Amino acid sequence: MVKDMTLKDAALIVQKFGGTSLADATRIKAVAGHIARTKRRGYQIVVVVSAMGATTNDLLRLAVDVSSFQPARELDMLLSAGERISMALLCMALADLNIPAVSFTGSQAGILTDNIHTKAKVLEVKTQRISQALVEDKVPVVAGFQGVSEEKEITTLGRGGSDTTAVALAAALGAEVCEIYTDVPGVFSADPAIVPQARKLGRISYEEMMEISVSGGKVLALRSVEFARNHGIILHVRSSFTWETGTWIVQEDSSMEQAVVSAITSDDSEAKLTIREVPDRPGVAALLFRSLADKAVNVDMIVQNISKAGTTDISFTLPKDDLPAAMEAVNGLKSQLEVCEVIADTSLAKVSVVGAGMKTHTGVSAKMFETLANNNINIEMISTSPIRISALVKEEMLEQAVRLLHSAFELERQE
Ligand code: ADP
Ligand code: ASP
Ligand code: MG
Repeated sequence: MVKDMTLKDAALIVQKFGGTSLADATRIKAVAGHIARTKRRGYQIVVVVSAMGATTNDLLRLAVDVSSFQPARELDMLLSAGERISMALLCMALADLNIPAVSFTGSQAGILTDNIHTKAKVLEVKTQRISQALVEDKVPVVAGFQGVSEEKEITTLGRGGSDTTAVALAAALGAEVCEIYTDVPGVFSADPAIVPQARKLGRISYEEMMEISVSGGKVLALRSVEFARNHGIILHVRSSFTWETGTWIVQEDSSMEQAVVSAITSDDSEAKLTIREVPDRPGVAALLFRSLADKAVNVDMIVQNISKAGTTDISFTLPKDDLPAAMEAVNGLKSQLEVCEVIADTSLAKVSVVGAGMKTHTGVSAKMFETLANNNINIEMISTSPIRISALVKEEMLEQAVRLLHSAFELERQE
């Protein structure tokens, strides 16, 4: 379709392939075949790969097996190896199809990050080597999820971070679209693994996708969606198994149907910390949350109870992975905050209802809470954004809660 263009003018697509898409030799060859077909249609392509199958989890397990403490720098060295395996194998599979390709680690690809190991942020992308490869008519294959810090250390971008690599490259290179190939055919009205009747969404706004990601819909990493919105990059989430058209994530416009509720999400990766009987005076919350922020703990929901006898309880949720850092922060403040008791609860999970139409419709929270109440599911904490309502429930009730809400809001596929 772009037959008459010179290579320099050909449209550029970034294609990112997730772990399941590259799980074994057959899958890697299938992905290489798809890249070859796209290239033969006249596009310039930059490829971003995740680690094969469960490699990242396997490496994490090994780390825990060899040591009770994993220094963050070494974790990054270890985990970044997963994506290097994929990039080299994919280049070999492409060579087999006579498609010249060249692999790059995150650092070689010019992905510069801050210094926060295991959840670094991309600061800048220096695209010279990738651009040079494109000029030489080679397909650059970039290891996702990793970069190099200002201190010249290897960093990783947090779980699911290959999505962010792909969008950052798409933005830096001015790509036409960033395609995220995964094991489901798009973004659904709920995780299809929990709700088999979930409906594929044709098109959704960055805002809704951000809320889906932030509340546990791991199909796209939150930072990748933020990045796409900030740089106006169109995302297309689609299957590497069927190659069918998937879900487009775009700027909201007036032609977009504004569903009151478009998705139900769930997240079992958070824990709740309660700090009992802290003094109820100005500055206490500031001290606590400053010290958590300094340890890069990502706090989500926060509740402070009514003061009794000059003290109050503060509860907040945070990623389970951040619990050790949070405990360290709280313990360091024990004498200043006159804290007597800190309770960690890892038996809770979050269910959320997301939809842009919520801005103009009332009754969504009432219906959500009624549905949970009618089924004896107790709510422990609530938080909201203009287009999301989240409730913390017992983890064992989570999947049931998702299915009940999905059906209460009539989100099932129409057969
Ligand atoms: P990849 O390895 O390709 O990055 P992920 O496992 O990170 O894939 O994300 C894809 C998975 O996200 C799907 O297998 C699906 O179970 C899960 N998922 C959760 N919520 C949703 C949703 N709303 N729509 C689609 N997939 C979802
Ligand atoms: N391999 C990394 C992970 O499993 C990054 C990614 O897949 O996006 O989280
Ligand atoms: Mg992913």
